[in-house]
Amino acid sequence: MSDKPIYVTEPFLPPLEEFIPYLEEIWESKRLTNNGPMHEKLEDALCEYLGVPEIALFNNGTIALLTALKALHITGEVITTPFTFIATSHALTWNGLTPIFVDIDPNTFNIDPSKIEAAITPRTTAILPVHCFGNPCDVEAIQEIADKYNLKVIYDAAHAFGVEDKGGSILRHGNLSAVSFHATKVFNTFEGGAIICHDKKTKQHIKSLKNFGIVDEVTVVAAGINGKMGEVNAAFGLLQLKYIEKAIARRKTADQFYRDKLKNINGISTIDFSSQNKGNSSYFPIIVEDSYSLTRDELFKKLQEHKIMARRYFYPLVTDQPMYRQSNSRKSGVSNFPVSTMIAKKIMCLPIHDQLNIYNQEKILNLIKGELE
Ligand SMILES: *Cc1c(COP(=O)(O)O)cnc(C)c1O
Repeated sequence: MSDKPIYVTEPFLPPLEEFIPYLEEIWESKRLTNNGPMHEKLEDALCEYLGVPEIALFNNGTIALLTALKALHITGEVITTPFTFIATSHALTWNGLTPIFVDIDPNTFNIDPSKIEAAITPRTTAILPVHCFGNPCDVEAIQEIADKYNLKVIYDAAHAFGVEDKGGSILRHGNLSAVSFHATKVFNTFEGGAIICHDKKTKQHIKSLKNFGIVDEVTVVAAGINGKMGEVNAAFGLLQLKYIEKAIARRKTADQFYRDKLKNINGISTIDFSSQNKGNSSYFPIIVEDSYSLTRDELFKKLQEHKIMARRYFYPLVTDQPMYRQSNSRKSGVSNFPVSTMIAKKIMCLPIHDQLNIYNQEKILNLIKGELE
C-alpha cells in the first residue's frame, strides 16, 4: 500500500485514450469555442441525463451563478445561507446585491425556511439557497414564501448534479438553478458549470448574456460577460457522462460503508440524506460531537498527520469572513446563526470519491475509532 495522501475528493477521469478521438474531432472541425458541436451535444446529453428542459453551459459555476442573477434582473437584497462556499455570496456582491444571511436547519444544513420571512424587507427580491452537500432544500416551503412575497428563487446547485426527489431532478425547482462542473465536483469538465431553466426564451436570453450580451452580428442588448464553455471542456463532459452512473454508484458504496461502520463509534454522527431522494454521495460530512474523545480540530489534525486530507466544509462561515462580518449577520458581536456556528465548529467532510478503496476507508475508520495513533 502506498502512503500517497488521500484527498477529500479526487477527480473522476475516464481512460485517456478514449478522449483522443474527441480531440481529433475538434482539430478536424477547427471549432474551439462559441457554441461549437461538442457544446451543443453536451447540452442535449445533459438535458436528457438530468431530465431537465433547458440547460446553458458555462465556463464555471461562479459565472453561471452571476449570470443567473443578472438574467432575472435581481436587485437590492437577496436572502441566502452562511453555510456554503464563498462563491455563493460573492455572486451577489459581484452583482451589487446585498446578501442577507439566514441560519440553517440542523438536520439538513440547508437554509431554514422558518427563518426566511423574518429577514424579508421591502428591498428583498430573491432567495439564493444552496442544496448543501447535495441534500435537497425544502423546496416547497421556499417556493411558498417566494410566491407570497413575489420573490425569485435561484438555487446554488453546485453540489446537486444528478440529485432527484420524488418528482424528478432537483434542478427543476425555483426560477433557475446553477451547477458547477469544477474538477472537485461529482461531474466535472475540468472547469465548467451550467444554468438550468424552464423555457427556450430564458435559455436564449442566458445564451446571449454569456456571450457579451450579443444577440446578432450587429446588436448587443445587455452588459453580458464571457461565460462560454470551450469545446475541449464540453467534449470531456460528453466522455465523463458515459461513466457518471458508475462513478456515483462507487461513491454510494463508499458512503454506505462509512455509514455502517460509523454507527458504532461514540461521538461521531452522520447526516441523513432522505431515502426518498436519489442522492449523489458528493460529500461525506460527519459531526464530531462533544462526547467524542477529541475535538473536531484535533481529529482533523490527526487525520492529516496520516495523510488523510479531510476538509472542514464549511468552516469558517461566510459570515465570519472579514468582508461579510459587518452584514446583517451580527448584532453587537453576537452571531445570529447559532445553528450554522455550531455546525461549522463540529463538521468535517471525509474523503469520498470513486477511487477510494476499502483499505483507505478502513484506515480512516481505524483512525477515527482510535485504534491507530
Ligand atoms: C464549487 C461551488 C461553487 C462554484 O463553482 P465553480 O465552478 O468552482 O466556480 C459555487 N457554490 C458552491 C456551493 C460550490 O461548492
